[in-house]
Amino acid sequence: MYIRDTIAAVSTPPGNGGIGIIRVSGEQAAKVGDAVFKPVYDGGLVSHRFSFGTIHDPATGEKVDEAMAVYMRAPRSYTREDVLELHCHGGWLVVERVLALVLACGTRLADPGEFTRRAFLNGRIDLVQAEAVMDIIASKSEAALQLAQKQREGILSRRIDDIRASLLQALALVEAYIDFPDDDLGETDLAAILASVGAAQSMIAALLLTFEEGRIMREGISVLIVGKPNAGKSSLLNRLLDENRAIVTHIPGTTRDIIEETVNFEGLSVRLLDTAGIRHTEDLVEQEGISRALDKIPQADLILAVFDASREFSLEDQLILDAVAGCKTIAVLNKTDLNQCFVMPDGEYFIDQVNIVALSGDGVELLKHAVCRQFLHSAAPDSRELVALSRARHRDALVSAEFHLKQFTGGLRDRNLELLALDLRGALQAVGTVTGQAATDEVLDLIFSSFCIGK
Ligand code: GDP
Repeated sequence: MYIRDTIAAVSTPPGNGGIGIIRVSGEQAAKVGDAVFKPVYDGGLVSHRFSFGTIHDPATGEKVDEAMAVYMRAPRSYTREDVLELHCHGGWLVVERVLALVLACGTRLADPGEFTRRAFLNGRIDLVQAEAVMDIIASKSEAALQLAQKQREGILSRRIDDIRASLLQALALVEAYIDFPDDDLGETDLAAILASVGAAQSMIAALLLTFEEGRIMREGISVLIVGKPNAGKSSLLNRLLDENRAIVTHIPGTTRDIIEETVNFEGLSVRLLDTAGIRHTEDLVEQEGISRALDKIPQADLILAVFDASREFSLEDQLILDAVAGCKTIAVLNKTDLNQCFVMPDGEYFIDQVNIVALSGDGVELLKHAVCRQFLHSAAPDSRELVALSRARHRDALVSAEFHLKQFTGGLRDRNLELLALDLRGALQAVGTVTGQAATDEVLDLIFSSFCIGK
């Protein structure tokens, strides 16, 4: 439900900063501006022009702060309502006082994401674009940011609209026949329906194929470093992090727990996990560390299996091969500065192999590149045309649409037209939840409640 009252919130982050912004949206925005803000120059607030002036308490006349104010008359504003922004000094006490004055003028404290929700309800952006706004704010990597920016610009929304258009075309034809129950579906119309539905199906299938990559761009990947003790896992972690985070010693078994750090490789957010060296041991603490390392293997997006190239292949190395069997793993041959004794047994264990010297950093850039290559193929950060799904919500909606369309095509020749129309409507409904045409209040509550206040 959309109650058209006037809302207000602090839009800058909590704490002290250079500037604090209080945002107001709704019919009372201009009145609030006139009540609390006195421009230095005559003429009052002019839409889309910054004014310099003072904020004061309308009840007492007390001056509260010097500020800049901008008023944006509907519909040319973030929410498509009248919007007022007061830019005052960024101390939390000042900001809280100005907000209190604004609330005292009859505005209500905005819920999380309520400004963006109004932008959606007023048709300025759709749901995918609203979610993209949230993703822009939360982006931890260049890849995530670029994907979110494209989605905010509407690249995914346009594809969803194309799918809807195809389905609507098919539905219109089917419904035309429902009105004339004596007519059978003519061959030409049947072909036209199949063409439209087929086009929608291919667009859906193509989008679903991008989900894994889109999710990875948005959320990043987890990379688990495994290997026998002393292979050089901690040295590699430090190289990848460019700092001395993990303890490096020549005593085997020093990393007992999992060390976790997030870094950026070529614009991709990577959560690195260094684990205890895997070997047979009687030490109970070390055993616990090893069992934690083994547990993590199936959950990781990628494994880096580190081997000591200066030693012969050992039973401990075999333990690693067994542990990573079936997982996406890159073999990292370390200590290639020393005499090479290591020979990898025959077999298809790895998707790639990189030689490094963790001690000096040689080969580490190549390794980072090899990691990215596994995840960012079509979605290289500079690829402009990528239309990718990145949220499970969108994927689930399209999977549901795909299901309805399968029912539709499966029953096309023998089910009655009403049921066929229902399948198409089911698919349309599912696709419509992505951009929001068919989203319920509960879905909207769920989405916008994860926004921050003031956005
Ligand atoms: P981890 O037990 O697998 O974490 O291994 P560490 O990173 O603690 O390294 C074990 C030992 O190998 C340390 O003494 C390191 O200095 C040494 N080391 C690690 N990488 C290299 C390398 O590339 N070349 C050489 N020569 N020594 C290395």
